[in-house]
Amino acid sequence: MEIMYNSTRSKDKKVTASQAILKGLSDEGGLFVPEQIPALDRSLTELKDMTYPQVAYEVMKLYLTDFTEAELKDCILKAYDDKFDTAEIAPMREADGAYYLELFHGATIAFKDMALSILPHLLTTAARKNHVTGEIVILTATSGDTGKAALSGFADIEGTRIIVFYPKNGVSPIQEKQMVTQKGKNTYVVGIHGNFDDAQTGVKNIFGDGELAAEMKEKGFQFSSANSINIGRLVPQIVYYVYAYAQLLKKECIKDGEKINVVVPTGNFGNILAAFYAKQMGLPINKLICASNENKVLYDFFRSGTYDRNREFVLTSSPSMDILISSNLERLIYLIAENDAEKNRELMASLTGSGSYTITEAMKERLSDFYGNYASEEETASAIRSLYDRTGYIIDTHTAVASSVYGKYRQETMDERPAVIVSTASPYKFTRSVMNAIGQNDSTEDDFVLAEALSGLSGVKIPAAVEEIRTAPVLHDCICEKDEMKQTVRKILGF
Ligand SMILES: *Cc1c(COP(=O)(O)O)cnc(C)c1O
Repeated sequence: MEIMYNSTRSKDKKVTASQAILKGLSDEGGLFVPEQIPALDRSLTELKDMTYPQVAYEVMKLYLTDFTEAELKDCILKAYDDKFDTAEIAPMREADGAYYLELFHGATIAFKDMALSILPHLLTTAARKNHVTGEIVILTATSGDTGKAALSGFADIEGTRIIVFYPKNGVSPIQEKQMVTQKGKNTYVVGIHGNFDDAQTGVKNIFGDGELAAEMKEKGFQFSSANSINIGRLVPQIVYYVYAYAQLLKKECIKDGEKINVVVPTGNFGNILAAFYAKQMGLPINKLICASNENKVLYDFFRSGTYDRNREFVLTSSPSMDILISSNLERLIYLIAENDAEKNRELMASLTGSGSYTITEAMKERLSDFYGNYASEEETASAIRSLYDRTGYIIDTHTAVASSVYGKYRQETMDERPAVIVSTASPYKFTRSVMNAIGQNDSTEDDFVLAEALSGLSGVKIPAAVEEIRTAPVLHDCICEKDEMKQTVRKILGF
């Protein structure tokens, strides 16, 4: 069955999957969504004996219906290869009564690699299918991890250029070093004086700029996005939920059909939305537990039905979740409005205008699959410490937010179903905060020395991604103001 995509803000124009991936964002600013969410057509017992790439094919074929079998399999095999340091791709680790799904075994040691390893291949295949001849310019805003994962995925990919904007003072030292040392003649990295929301808004404005689009077209360029607003990011993220469930079944940790809880450290709402799609496809998930840091706009939303970004932006130890405008929530809003693009557009206009919106009671009732809570900075550190003390397992700050929130959920609900906690980054990406949390706050200034100490404590080898940047030269030093992003893009493209 062919699945077409329409915008969350307009139902009229339908596009194919490959066209949706190419465009990234719809013309009126909406996000592309499948007209309907397909059901899994393989049983869980069949899936449990499949490898990660095989599961990826079974899930992605249901969404990317205009890709041929050969095209899709080719993309999958190019993505999930030895760039990952384990053949399992997404291994699971049991600790303290929960299953930590480690999504950080790719090239840049954060979960963004799960989708960004494949997006460049999906995109270049989509370009070929749609006879796009111009160069594709990937514009991306990052809170730290998307940037490096996208740079790494697109570096030296023929027919593409990638420009990444990051908040100059809003990412970890390792994250920044990873980006500014990026090789590849088609890569550009720009720090902005502003936060992630400024970067994301700037990118969205450039996308929506009709004049610039016309000029781009004339000069043989076309924009696309590597952010999780791109459906080509969302679909590959559904895969690991199905894979995790199948693996639990294979290891006899659960019975076929038994419901599990899923806990996701959330920022832009992409990862947890993928879990929601997996549930809609028939995966036996009970609650989707949405974990926020002190930027707890989502927690407040699930409680009150009001989304309100008018608050102070807090810089936390989990910077990839320092976000007040969770872009992918729009896809959920659209669904709970029963695919009413008009209603969704109205709410999003209110968000742009006054910075907030309130959903109806009927919409709120459709959120019962979700549970939201948050962890303070102290609770996050304490989650790292207590897990380490009890089990010796060391998690990163983002995963710790999820771990802490899961503790609160269990206490509140007494729900003891098996739970998968999504582990979104390697502790080596946030070494200083992690070491502080476990009371090893050495006064050393050097993050690499700290990484060695962390390795000593955890017995886990320092990942190649960290070793690599230790001595790598800085290749990018461009900085701009948040209102200069468009000029910067023009300059990079040589206009
Ligand atoms: C991006 C990111 C998140 C948040 O994921 P969303 O899909 O934006 O909700 C959480 N943890 C880490 C380490 C990340 O890089």
